[in-house]
Amino acid sequence: MYGSVTPDIIDELKSIVGEKHVSTSLVDRLVCSRDLWFPMLFKTLKGELWPTADVVVWPGSAEEVSEVLKLANKRRVPVVTLGGGAGVCGGLSPIRGGIVMDIKRMCKVLELDEESLTVVVQAGLIGMELEEYLNRKGYTLGHYPLSIYASTIGGFLACRSAGVLSNKYGKIEDMVIALRVVLPTGEIIETKRVPRRATGPDLMQLFVGSEGILGVITEAALRIHPYPEKRIFTSYRFKDLHAGLEAVRNIFRRGVRPAIVRLYDERDTKITLGSLGLPAEGCLLILSFEGTEKLVDAEAEVADEVCRQWGGEQLGDLPAKHWWKHRHDQYWNLPHLLKGFMIVDTIEVSAPWDRLERLYWEVKRALEGQGVIPMAHFSHFYLDGGSIYFTFVKPREPKTPINDAYWRIWSAAMEACIRVGGSISHHHGVGLVRSPWMEKEHGKSFEIIRALKKVLDPNNILNPGKLGMVGWSEVRRVF
Ligand SMILES: Cc1cc2nc3c(=O)[nH]c(=O)nc-3n(C[C@H](O)[C@H](O)[C@H](O)COP(=O)(O)OP(=O)(O)OC[C@H]3O[C@@H](n4cnc5c(N)ncnc54)[C@H](O)[C@@H]3O)c2cc1C
Repeated sequence: MYGSVTPDIIDELKSIVGEKHVSTSLVDRLVCSRDLWFPMLFKTLKGELWPTADVVVWPGSAEEVSEVLKLANKRRVPVVTLGGGAGVCGGLSPIRGGIVMDIKRMCKVLELDEESLTVVVQAGLIGMELEEYLNRKGYTLGHYPLSIYASTIGGFLACRSAGVLSNKYGKIEDMVIALRVVLPTGEIIETKRVPRRATGPDLMQLFVGSEGILGVITEAALRIHPYPEKRIFTSYRFKDLHAGLEAVRNIFRRGVRPAIVRLYDERDTKITLGSLGLPAEGCLLILSFEGTEKLVDAEAEVADEVCRQWGGEQLGDLPAKHWWKHRHDQYWNLPHLLKGFMIVDTIEVSAPWDRLERLYWEVKRALEGQGVIPMAHFSHFYLDGGSIYFTFVKPREPKTPINDAYWRIWSAAMEACIRVGGSISHHHGVGLVRSPWMEKEHGKSFEIIRALKKVLDPNNILNPGKLGMVGWSEVRRVF
């Protein structure tokens, strides 16, 4: 049983973070109690309400976060951490009410070490603000998720995010060196800032991807890179997906690491090339290379050789440059799209090379079986496999309740993924939307996540219910 947010708790919160950093206004509670998960967007457009916190607080330091958590733990009040609110999985929905703790006041760059190439930041800093700061100094983090203007460093870490240049720079878990975290009981812990160590399991990584259920990330040390001397773009057309995937697999086997690799399936190619007035056939691959000039030229040359071996037709730099320039545009269309269709959503999954193509076909068939129009691109690759990003729309169907249709689609896709042996998420995370499949995803090892949650958060106050900690009935209560 949770305690409610009583007036004396509000007074205590005010004394911790200052009166103007506490709000019980309905507008603040609504705005800070949702992310960009489809049901939240749908409810917003329909004028329906969603689960809402009782109070919003804006702490200014790890010490204030700690005091808020000590109070919440003592009074058994749930706390949800809010970063940018651009998650797409319902991860910050306060399904048990309580406190939303928005950490965006904690947004400073604390230290830039130009010798070791590291930067230390507060977790509430928006991704693009850090990138622009680094660019002015001649560096880059190399982390460019498409939510870079709206998400925080803490949110990237909490969700194990992947940027569009990840093939070269890695994902957020490759960039982080050390963390400062406030535990649910209020203790502040710091991990050591060294490039690597062999002193037991990596406790820092425990919090990367923990989606706010094990602790609140307040500070991070991250690896940075010199700003690239040169960035080039190129594009190819392949006769089908198989040829395109083989080209990418072999580019990686040759040791080349393009920054951007996006291979579109046939439907996505039709739309992408068609909009540029180019023949809309086959499967489009766009690549970019960046870094030291000589290395960039050499990488582009090897990639070109491999693409030609797999029948790739050079399309020049236009499709790739056009995508780079307009990569955020589609999101401004989202409200319009949502009005035109019943459901608009995305699902990203991953698999090793030997199952990647099968995963694509199985998930695509599963989606189509639900009357959905899917299209997909493959954009994060490894020597051992890659990820697939499905975007889908379900045309209007007035007789079917939208939530029933929504969960049937998700169930079909998740079950298909599990059947093939893929992972149900490559980078968006779990939140509420994937919670019902966490046991199937992890098998017996899911017990370890449960046990960790119990040890670190004995009163289950921190973001209760997320990351697979609730089942179907709770998820369906929200949508
Ligand atoms: C248009 C659009 C494009 C996107 N593109 C990408 C993409 O290219 N790559 C990608 O990986 N994702 C992408 N996403 C998904 C999303 O932006 C990421 O998951 C991002 O990491 C969320 O960060 P945030 O600050 O917005 O987190 P929020 O939405 O505020 O929170 C997400 C979860 O993390 C927890 N959390 C947030 N901050 C902390 C903290 N400091 N400590 C502990 N827990 C915390 C929250 O409680 C919640 O559970 C996209 C989303 C949108 C809407």
